[in-house]
Amino acid sequence: MAEQQDLLYLDYAASTPVDARVAQAMSALMTSAGSYANPSSTHAAGRQSVGHIARAADQLAGLLNTRAERLIWTSGATESDNLAILGGAHYRRDRGRHLVSMRTEHKAVTDSFSELERQAFDVTWLDPEANGVLDIARFEAALRDDTQLVSIMHVNNETGVIQDIEKIGAICREREILFHVDAAQSVGKLLIDLDALPVDLMSMTAHKVYGPKGIGALYIADRPGVHVDPLLFGGGQQHRLRPGTLPSQQIVGFGAAADIARSRMHEDLERLAALRDRFWSGVHDLPGILLNGDIDNSFPGILNVSIEDIEGESLLLALEPLCVATGSACNSASQEPSYVLRALGRSDALAQSAVRFSFGRPTSLMDVDFAVEHYRNAVDKLRRIAPGHAA
Ligand SMILES: *Cc1c(COP(=O)(O)O)cnc(C)c1O
Repeated sequence: MAEQQDLLYLDYAASTPVDARVAQAMSALMTSAGSYANPSSTHAAGRQSVGHIARAADQLAGLLNTRAERLIWTSGATESDNLAILGGAHYRRDRGRHLVSMRTEHKAVTDSFSELERQAFDVTWLDPEANGVLDIARFEAALRDDTQLVSIMHVNNETGVIQDIEKIGAICREREILFHVDAAQSVGKLLIDLDALPVDLMSMTAHKVYGPKGIGALYIADRPGVHVDPLLFGGGQQHRLRPGTLPSQQIVGFGAAADIARSRMHEDLERLAALRDRFWSGVHDLPGILLNGDIDNSFPGILNVSIEDIEGESLLLALEPLCVATGSACNSASQEPSYVLRALGRSDALAQSAVRFSFGRPTSLMDVDFAVEHYRNAVDKLRRIAPGHAA
């Protein structure tokens, strides 16, 4: 973070800075020289706004190898998850009321399913294996004749673990079950080919991929039986699936961010893997350190470690200039140990000592070395002052 040199931001899984070219494209659109007209207006200025939105939709569709018409703009992945899960289950409610998801999903997914449980839907909550991966046989065993919707995320936001959405999707497709994927952590980071993937609904968000906060999208496959009921009602925009004035500058920002992500995805991935590997090789020999997840099957921008005999809250304080996450950023207001790490079988104490380091485009090797040194020093210091470890 250029303006705050004493802080080192390593929380790119929570949010990313807006790319300067994205910010430029957005601000150019908003001011009086730009295309600020309401895209729902039928006059020439409104049509200009429509043109900008269409171009952004093409950019995002290009990143994912799909067509622009398949994308619905939302306020972010939280809304996309709600629309896919509540809207999908409601659309299919007369065919069956059984739904399947995982305990390690983001709150936007788990809380949507909890709401459906209150509406008398029947949800099966699957646990992952100890490495965070969903076992395919266990998944298949959970499916029933009345299963209508499955939601399994692509990349886990706490551990970086990647689920096999291709295999899971193929099983769903065979049985004509709606398959939703929360891809907030993978869009623009891992190669996603929606033309080839058996995915019906996919949630995404701009601010995890160097775009602005407050804009996301839901992909809806062009297949019979794939549809969602709307959650919002209003002006009829976006085929009535998600009405409201389209935020053109946010959309243009998402489009520009998608374009940049597409052009440098391979390079980004290689750099992140080098940073992650350097970090892990710098800390892996610490006594009692444990990697949460599966380093061989994860997005390299995220590394989550727990450590034995260290109290989570003290560790967080001792790490101070490092901006890192304990558990999930969305959870940190509560002092509860991460439910994701608990589902991986970690004890409360180990889950509480967990730190998620997440790296991004601005992260350098020097940053990683600083973080390694800082983490090691913090652990040493806490062990020296801990009772039972007196010199
Ligand atoms: C960040 C995130 C969300 C929420 O996205 P918003 O755009 O902030 O609402 C949902 N799911 C996952 C996996 C995330 O990482």
